[in-house]
Amino acid sequence: MQSLESELAAARDLDVADLADAIESIGFECTRCGGCCTGYAPGEPGGAPPGEGVDETEEAAPDRDSDDRDSDDREPHTATVFPDEVRRVADAAADRFDGSYDWRDVARPMPFGLDADGDGEPAGETFEWALATDDCGDCTFYEESDGRGACTVHDARPLICRTYPFSVALDGTSQPMGEAVDESGVVRAHECEGLGRDISREDAEELAAALKERAVRELEEAIGVRDGYDPSASDRVDGDIVVFDSEGPKEADGTPVDGD
Ligand code: SF4
Repeated sequence: MQSLESELAAARDLDVADLADAIESIGFECTRCGGCCTGYAPGEPGGAPPGEGVDETEEAAPDRDSDDRDSDDREPHTATVFPDEVRRVADAAADRFDGSYDWRDVARPMPFGLDADGDGEPAGETFEWALATDDCGDCTFYEESDGRGACTVHDARPLICRTYPFSVALDGTSQPMGEAVDESGVVRAHECEGLGRDISREDAEELAAALKERAVRELEEAIGVRDGYDPSASDRVDGDIVVFDSEGPKEADGTPVDGD
């Protein structure tokens, strides 16, 4: 396995035109099915298996309808969001809804890797943030009307959302929704009903640029987490969870953990 630094160099060398070629050859058009923004039921495609860092499902449930969202056994939508993206989404939501949004309104500790404490509550260390979800397990910023989904913070949505269902196959970059169903060069496509549809060159290039940006950001974040990891931080948190991101250790509500 290569070092994160060499992977980062490879990500920075990605050619956007090549990525756009790959996206064009695979094809994609968002159908606004909401699959990448909502929770999923057992047996539906969607969601990274436990242990995989990122999960973003564009086509999570071919036969899902909104009534299914009341089901108790649905797994919550789980998509990685970077620390600066949390703040940007919070600002966008505050503008959109004319209210105050804090860290907890936008993000929750990534559950993968956390253990359960004696009361069954999650506890331990985790290394990413996930977008907050509502009682149905859907992204809290997802809205649906007449069967068509919409993102209420569309212009500020995280890179993972802007690039789904695609990923770049480099070590250290995330693979949303598990296995790829199609690939071209280093571009992987994950389950989504919008795959295979015509895409304009302009849209493919925009997506490709975001995909490169995401690959670089994921590796920069991973390096920041690695370099800032402080195992003693777990002893200084007020709660049971410590989240290590590239800015350092944080409480579950996003409050930085004080140093010694
Ligand atoms: S932020 Fe927007 S695009 Fe991303 S999962 Fe939530 S509703 Fe969907």
